[in-house]
Amino acid sequence: MLGNVMTRRGMLQVGGSAAAAALALAAKPGAALIQSGGAVRATGRPLPDGVALPQTPAGRKRADSVGFAIVGLGGYALNQMLPRFAHAERAHVAALVSGNPEKLRRVGDAYGVPQAARYSYETFARIASDDRIDAVYVVLPSGLHAEWTIRAFDAGKHVLCEKPMALSSADCARMIAAGRRAGRKLMIAYRSHFEPHNREAMALMARNAVGRLRLVRAEQSYRMGPTRPSENWRVSRALAGGGPLEDYGIYGLQAALYLSGEMPESISATAFRPAGDPRFAEIFAHVASQWRFPSGAVAQLVTSYDSAGTNLVHARGTDGALIMDPATGYAGQKMRLEGRDARTISPGDPDVQFAGQLDHFADAIRDGTPIRTPGEMGLRDLRLIEAIYASAASGATVRLAPDGTMRA
Ligand code: NDP
Repeated sequence: MLGNVMTRRGMLQVGGSAAAAALALAAKPGAALIQSGGAVRATGRPLPDGVALPQTPAGRKRADSVGFAIVGLGGYALNQMLPRFAHAERAHVAALVSGNPEKLRRVGDAYGVPQAARYSYETFARIASDDRIDAVYVVLPSGLHAEWTIRAFDAGKHVLCEKPMALSSADCARMIAAGRRAGRKLMIAYRSHFEPHNREAMALMARNAVGRLRLVRAEQSYRMGPTRPSENWRVSRALAGGGPLEDYGIYGLQAALYLSGEMPESISATAFRPAGDPRFAEIFAHVASQWRFPSGAVAQLVTSYDSAGTNLVHARGTDGALIMDPATGYAGQKMRLEGRDARTISPGDPDVQFAGQLDHFADAIRDGTPIRTPGEMGLRDLRLIEAIYASAASGATVRLAPDGTMRA
């Protein structure tokens, strides 16, 4: 029987088959969570509704602009990232990779990408001899990130990979190793690290603007419409892992880390999967976790695909609180300080986060500057995600080493 009980502590309980599912997710990282190259394959999808393609391609960039091949022309690539290349100073769209030839033609024409720089998943390996391409931007479903990142390194290109880096820490390690072997750079597209409110929040917390940090609370949820794994990769375990945590809750997980500046020393968690709902045949509806940091601060993270939309992060210290609500969206961030120095904080336009991450990676490639969100950060986060699922599966608190690996 599935338990769906709110206790006095407000945490969702999990039992029966949901616990078994959690166990299956957590027991064999790298095997249960990801089947890239095996059961899941890159295949084309139709042009999403409502995509606005440019009337005229972007103008020329500076001579040392980095050429990107965009892999996967889905909603995020088409609606957010491709249009933002026009705002980047040192990054341009050099090539496109898609499994849908008609979409590839329309998008290629709109962005002025030459015929010879349009690839399918089958012809991808040929990018190795295409000097227009310096870097590959992997915007595929999450369960395909590892395979296509490694293929891009094998072709001698640098890689910008969307979040989550992969669906297991073992795959993250393989990706990092492939980059090292190829002598190429790897960055995870954690855009909040380039967003002014989140940047300012990091600076405020580093200056103890709320006193000593005591509590972090993060909630990332939305209600997913009717769907099933065969029609939506976000509810397929092979492509999405456990579901909302990897996709949306990862923003709260990241914020808890960059606001506290610490790694948790222990995590306890619970996850819930309702019976009979095709949306949650393979993934969780909600995942909640509690973290304890060495400083004595604690964090509570909840994420859900089945509750009304929210995206908030609160950091409460001994002298005040930093309230971010909404915290990490594409636009519309709101932030205020409560306590001794109470005020609203509007440090800049969130839109700069998109081009900012492209230029940051271009600088790293051209000038050798350090990458703010390297593969090692993605690996760290997958270790914590695995610890969350392990705790949810066993019902026990998981103790962690400083690098996020689970202690025996
Ligand atoms: P979509 O479903 O909209 O698009 C995914 C695209 O991947 C498809 O259009 C298709 O492109 C390609 N694809 C290849 N194989 C498959 C397959 N087996 N099933 C489905 N699609 C396939 O996803 P999103 O654009 O929303 O997400 C893509 C990535 O971007 C994910 O990793 C996600 O986490 C990340 N993302 C990041 C965001 C951020 O804010 N940083 C926001 C949203 C998403 P084609 O038809 O061209 O082959």
